[in-house]
Amino acid sequence: MSEHKDFLRTIVEEDLKEGKYKEVVTRFPPEPNGFPHIGHAKSIYINFGIARDYHGHCNLRMDDTDPTKEDTKYVEALKDAVKWLGFNWGENVYFTSDYFPKLYNYAVQLIKMGKAYVDSLNEEEIKEYRGTVTQPGLRSKYADRSIEENLDLFERMKKGEFKDGEHVLRAKIDMSAANMKMRDPLLYRIRHVHHFRAGDEWFIYPMYDFAHCLSDYIEGVTHSICTLEFENNRDIYDWVLDTLELEPPRPYQHEFARLGINYTVMSKRKLLELVEGKYVSGWDDPRMPTIAGYKRRGYTPESILNFCDQIGIAKANSMVDVSQLEFCIRDDLNKKAPRVMCVLEPLKVTIINYEGSEEIDASYYPHDVPKEGSRKVPFSNELYIERDDFMENPVKGYNRLTLEQPVRLRHAYIITCKELIKDAKGNIIEIKAQYHPDSKSGSDTSGIKVKSAIQWVDAKKAKTIEVRLYDRLYKNEAPEGLEDLNPDSLKIIKNALVEPAVITEKPDERFQFERQGYFYADPVDYTEENPVFNKIVGLKDSWTK
Ligand code: ATP
Ligand code: MG
Ligand code: MG
Repeated sequence: MSEHKDFLRTIVEEDLKEGKYKEVVTRFPPEPNGFPHIGHAKSIYINFGIARDYHGHCNLRMDDTDPTKEDTKYVEALKDAVKWLGFNWGENVYFTSDYFPKLYNYAVQLIKMGKAYVDSLNEEEIKEYRGTVTQPGLRSKYADRSIEENLDLFERMKKGEFKDGEHVLRAKIDMSAANMKMRDPLLYRIRHVHHFRAGDEWFIYPMYDFAHCLSDYIEGVTHSICTLEFENNRDIYDWVLDTLELEPPRPYQHEFARLGINYTVMSKRKLLELVEGKYVSGWDDPRMPTIAGYKRRGYTPESILNFCDQIGIAKANSMVDVSQLEFCIRDDLNKKAPRVMCVLEPLKVTIINYEGSEEIDASYYPHDVPKEGSRKVPFSNELYIERDDFMENPVKGYNRLTLEQPVRLRHAYIITCKELIKDAKGNIIEIKAQYHPDSKSGSDTSGIKVKSAIQWVDAKKAKTIEVRLYDRLYKNEAPEGLEDLNPDSLKIIKNALVEPAVITEKPDERFQFERQGYFYADPVDYTEENPVFNKIVGLKDSWTK
């Protein structure tokens, strides 16, 4: 159970106590028109989380009523995301399209009750007649059609006898309702399009406001949890279910605040634009705020769930700082990830007083991480260190290797710089150094004081890897569109070097490359011959404006 009891759980508990429902049934109802993003993760966490906490049940329902944008690949991505986050929807995935025949019958029932009519105004007229917040609307002259005529027209709409937009089915509610949504809302529209599941059978498609409440009812949903933008739709939700006088119990809608994260866009339309315009490599590009993107980048499901838990459930919209999500993954990996050494920009070091080679036993975890394990790190007289771990003319406070200042090679010996080798342009291409045989980590009797330890790799045994360093996809805190993309969100380093222990056939392991950050073998592009690693997150919050 989540630590804090939120307002939704309070409602659920009261409903259960009063015996309003025998069992809690929630649903996660995405439209399969894009890959799910971190906002969906919040909705998944709430809906599946509540069902789990109260021993109920959460349905996964594809809200597939807008055939122009939907596709099975999105259905699969949604299933993958829910599964990856550790939730289970039971035997079947539900589809609103499977309810089309039932929904049609409910619509017929409303017509027979005199509560729905076929309107033949065009889209513009409908808008015009609706009025404004300060002005009541006007009812269409078609609203007085007889029940028989409405039934006949609606059936012919279904059979495909009319063109798109020629008629719509509307609820007969109140053209002067203060809630604009209640001014005879549209229930059905004509669309001559192919549906990815229902095929070419239907020429009319139900609107969200009609399909959603009834789908909830058909599935026995008790708590229909949605985001705040739907607050005004609640009146229609209730009107449809009450007007049809359905057998109780019926579901009720409850709204919570949508998740917004700075430096991030979450509209599927905008994410699709990034994919289609090839601004990213796909829906699962590690910079994307999609579940597939986070998964590929190396985020753990635990870190995302933890984030959802921390941000809580509120009734007012607010913006969450992206560093809070980064904190969650860093915090999780700090407890889990083995520490290894990687050099991103190698500088050669030759140890002039060392001969032969050895293997140094090095623990994978620091003392404060209660995990066991170690590996052998090869050592010889030819090493690579990080280029910026040496400075010829050190700035004040520089703690690493200089001409005067020795440094410790992590897990190994202390070295002192003896000579610099430069190319014709004066660039340092090699350091000749001396090692101190009695300074080995764990048995150091040298008495030499160093200010820091740096990572290194054995030149002969190191493996070359490609490293992909990611930065935020957008440079602005509140990005609008393409113009706000961060041009430097991906930096590729082709020839980074790692100690051999890192390279295995298929590492499903997240590593900390010491002093660099957390990294994950790219699940798509990694091969043993061409290992590719994604930077998941840095070791500390380094993003300052
Ligand atoms: P988008 O605007 O990105 O297309 P949507 O709301 O149309 O999002 P749906 O597929 O209809 O996406 O959403 C499925 C469920 O996920 C809905 O219940 C919706 O309320 C919820 N959801 C979507 N985005 C967020 C978000 N940012 N925060 C919380 N819940 C969200
Ligand atoms: Mg939606
Ligand atoms: Mg949408």
